[in-house]
Amino acid sequence: MVSSDKPRRAARVLVVEDEAEIAALVAYQLTREGYRVETVANGTAALDALRRERPDLVVLDRMLPEVSGDEVLQVIRSDPATLTIPVLVLTARREQQDRIAGLELGADDYLTKPFSPRELVLRVDAILRRAHGERKRGAGGGRILRVGPLRVDVAAHIVTLDGEELNLTPTEFRLLRTLMERRGRTQTRRQLLTEAWQIDSAVADRIRTRTVDMHVRRLRGKMGAAGEWIETVRGFGYRFQESAGNQPRRAGQSSS
Ligand code: CA
Repeated sequence: MVSSDKPRRAARVLVVEDEAEIAALVAYQLTREGYRVETVANGTAALDALRRERPDLVVLDRMLPEVSGDEVLQVIRSDPATLTIPVLVLTARREQQDRIAGLELGADDYLTKPFSPRELVLRVDAILRRAHGERKRGAGGGRILRVGPLRVDVAAHIVTLDGEELNLTPTEFRLLRTLMERRGRTQTRRQLLTEAWQIDSAVADRIRTRTVDMHVRRLRGKMGAAGEWIETVRGFGYRFQESAGNQPRRAGQSSS
């Protein structure tokens, strides 16, 4: 049975862009695809809009007057009410370092200007399909991944460590879940890009694998000592492997 496009087609997208022409183009394309679009031209208006009505996705330009795109992203990612909203960042090609910083702040994806309207729609579709798929899977599931003091409630999107909830972004959550599901098996950065990010392999080829490293670093930082369980496999990628050194107790299930 083919799943319906309807749920994401009715999705609400907040577009934050001060360049009127780009904002109009983005709004036009997304509206034509059936999205409900609200456009704002600066960071302050973006924060107001976020408080007023929760969007399903934010398209956020990095370079904004007054309150920057990065600051808006930081607010989104630090407020529990907005933490899980996917964010697609628009950035200029020359801002290489800035782009890296933006991804480190927790953007789900980014598009470099100039971009084709079609590419934008594909990215928005992909991000929302992923979010929607997770909710659907979660609704039927109730699956729990557990390793020692680390517990991942796949349905509820809640990760706890020794009973304390970790505030993970959607990308960090998917990354941890993917690694834990493939526990003990090395995952290449490209595999993680296509699995945890669930983006088409054609798109994955254009995203630098360093993006994965940044998200792994942030995820580890939030996991304390358990962060060491995400091992770097030199020349290959990453592997989730609870090590004897910092394991408080055995996990319930047997290994191998
Ligand atoms: Ca701008």
